[in-house]
Amino acid sequence: MAVEVIKKSGPTIKAGLPPMEYPARLSRLRERLAKDRAGGLLVTAPSNVRYLSGFSGSSAMLLVTARRLLLITDGRYKDQAAAELTAAGVDADLEVVNSTKQLGVIETATRSFARLAVEAKAVSWAWHTELASAVKPEVVATSGLVEELRVVKDAGEIARIERACDIADVAFAQIKQRLTEGVTEADFAAELEFEMRRRGAAASSFESIVASGPNGALPHARPTDRVTSPGDLVVVDFGALFDGYHSDMTRTVCVGEPSAASAELLAAVAASQRAGLIALAAGVTGGAVDAACRKSLAEAGFAEAFTHSTGHGVGLDIHEAPWVAADSADVLPAGCVVTVEPGAYVVDHGGVRIEDTVVVTASGHRPLTKTTKDWAL
Ligand code: ZN
Ligand code: ZN
Repeated sequence: MAVEVIKKSGPTIKAGLPPMEYPARLSRLRERLAKDRAGGLLVTAPSNVRYLSGFSGSSAMLLVTARRLLLITDGRYKDQAAAELTAAGVDADLEVVNSTKQLGVIETATRSFARLAVEAKAVSWAWHTELASAVKPEVVATSGLVEELRVVKDAGEIARIERACDIADVAFAQIKQRLTEGVTEADFAAELEFEMRRRGAAASSFESIVASGPNGALPHARPTDRVTSPGDLVVVDFGALFDGYHSDMTRTVCVGEPSAASAELLAAVAASQRAGLIALAAGVTGGAVDAACRKSLAEAGFAEAFTHSTGHGVGLDIHEAPWVAADSADVLPAGCVVTVEPGAYVVDHGGVRIEDTVVVTASGHRPLTKTTKDWAL
C-alpha cells in the first residue's frame, strides 16, 4: 500500500473568494488534542473531514495527530483526494485502499498510541466494535471537538455562505411572481431549485418547502400538487449549496391581499423576527435570542403557535452549532453564522415563518440573506 505524501506551502485561492484557512484550522484542533492528551483523533464525519482537509468526497477518514495528517479513502477518490489536499495547502499523507483494508491502515498508523479518539456521533456501534478489536490503543469517544472549531467562520467560509445566500435571493426574485399565476407547490419548488442551479448552486441546501394556504400550518410541509390561489399565504423555505456551504432563508408571501387574520399573523411574526435580530450580538446566548422571539409572539397572542426553535448555525452542514433554541446556553461569538426563524402556525388556516441567515458581529449582526420581507408579490 503506497502512501502518497502531499506537501504544499499554502492554500490555493479560488477566483474571487478569500482563501480557506485549512492549516490554521488544523493548528487549532491540534492545540485541543494536546489538551485532551489523546494519541490522535480519527475524524469520520464528512463535514469535519472537509473542514480540516478540503476533501469533499463522500467517503474518507482523517487521522489527526500532533505531527501527522493521514487521509484514508478508496479508489474512487484517488485523484480528487490528491488534488484537494494539495489545494488545501496542508501537509498530509494520502492512503488509497479499498474499504476492507482501511482498518488495517488505521491499525498500522496507531500502534504507538495509548488512546485513539473517535467522533462518537459519526461512528456506528458495529464499526466501533470492529475498530476497537482491530487496533492496539484504547478507543475513546469524543464529541464536538471539530464542530466547536467550526462555530466561528473564517473569511473564506463567510464569503461562500454569502454567495450561497446571494444565489437564493436572485433565484427567488426571478420567479416569485409565478405564485400569483396559480402554480403547484411542487412546480414552484422545482423551478426555484432550477433557478438556483442555473446561478451556480451545486444543489439545494435541503428539500425546499413551499407550503400554501392551510398546508402552511405544517412547519416542515412537503410541496404538494395544491395550486396557489388568491388570499393564500405561501411559506417558502429554501437554500443554495455553494462550494460546500449552505444558505437558509424563509419568506412568507401572500397571493393578492391577506385576510385580516393572515395580516395579523404576518405582522406578529415579522415583529418577532425583528426582536430576535435586535437581540443578536456577540456574547449573547442562543437561548436569549429565542426568548426575545418567543416573548414578542406571546405579546401578540401567538405563544402556542410557535412550535419550533428559533434558529441554528449554518455552514458545511445546514443545521450545526451554535443552537438558537429555548434554554440554549451556547454563547454566540462574533463570526458565527446563524438563522433567526420564528414562525406561527394555525391549523386549517396557514402559517407564517420569516428566516434570515446572518453573521453575528460584536455589536449586532450582518444579514447575508437580503430578500425583502414584504409579503406582497
Ligand atoms: Zn430554512
Ligand atoms: Zn433554518
